Amino acid sequence: RTVYVNGDYLPEADAKISIFDRGFLMADGVYEVTSVLDGKLIDFDGHAVRLERSLTELDMGMPMSRDDLLEIHRELVRLNEIDEGMIYLQITRGAPADRDFAFPDPEETAQTVVLFTQNKPGLADNPVAKQGIKVISIEDIRWGRRDIKTVQLLYPSMGKMMAKKAGADDAWMVEDGFVTEGTSNNAYIVKGNKIITRELSKDILHGITRAAVLRFAREAQMEVEERNFTIDEVKQADEAFITSASTFVMPVVAIDGTAIGDGVPGAKALRLREIYLEESRKTAV
Ligand code: PMP
Repeated sequence: RTVYVNGDYLPEADAKISIFDRGFLMADGVYEVTSVLDGKLIDFDGHAVRLERSLTELDMGMPMSRDDLLEIHRELVRLNEIDEGMIYLQITRGAPADRDFAFPDPEETAQTVVLFTQNKPGLADNPVAKQGIKVISIEDIRWGRRDIKTVQLLYPSMGKMMAKKAGADDAWMVEDGFVTEGTSNNAYIVKGNKIITRELSKDILHGITRAAVLRFAREAQMEVEERNFTIDEVKQADEAFITSASTFVMPVVAIDGTAIGDGVPGAKALRLREIYLEESRKTAV
């Protein structure tokens, strides 16, 4: 597999990063995951805009123009012959000489830019979507700036492990009695014609897939309600689902061992998945 590191396309075994990199020492970095369908990038602009915002919020700048970033994404897709899969991009504050909590002078630091691909044939035609996934609820103990897509993913990783241990697929996190989001996705319930999902704030990541799916839902005459909801409401809901760049729209059929609706993927979730795949293929670059 060919990867990209700071201007070079290299075999992955030859890729090197300093042990002083602040991404490695302090999780001082941000990332994006963009999916690839038919060899093309889904929602690239959205990911590029959010990347720039994450960097800005952490007093970092974009290391290159959006066009250059797009070219690197495309080149990696081409080199690795990805038809369906993902591109991971990570930008860290980079490597200063000494470890220090304070941000180093940007003049004396070179950001580290890394991209790699993951080949995932069958991503769109995922059999899991026909079954749906099961989630558990866990306390949300993450920091207060979840709108910044940083690489500090330890608690979400622990959440996935708690889910696995409980025989489930993923976890929905709860703060002050309300669902924030999934470990690596946004969370939704459906009540009648209403798609309900938490409003945007610093409490959750502003999902690129979320923005697209809510737009498609409105276009399909579904009602969208952006508000907090509880686990009790999830249990009473007709349907539930998650969205993310790598799962698109994925039905959720149970929470904490209780079936949601009929315990099978809901019609609205499946319809939104269909629309999302169809529409985003059309605008892929
Ligand atoms: N919330 C969290 C915590 C995430 O990690 C992700 C995916 N990285 C999402 C939501 C979904 O965002 P997107 O649709 O942009 O992939």
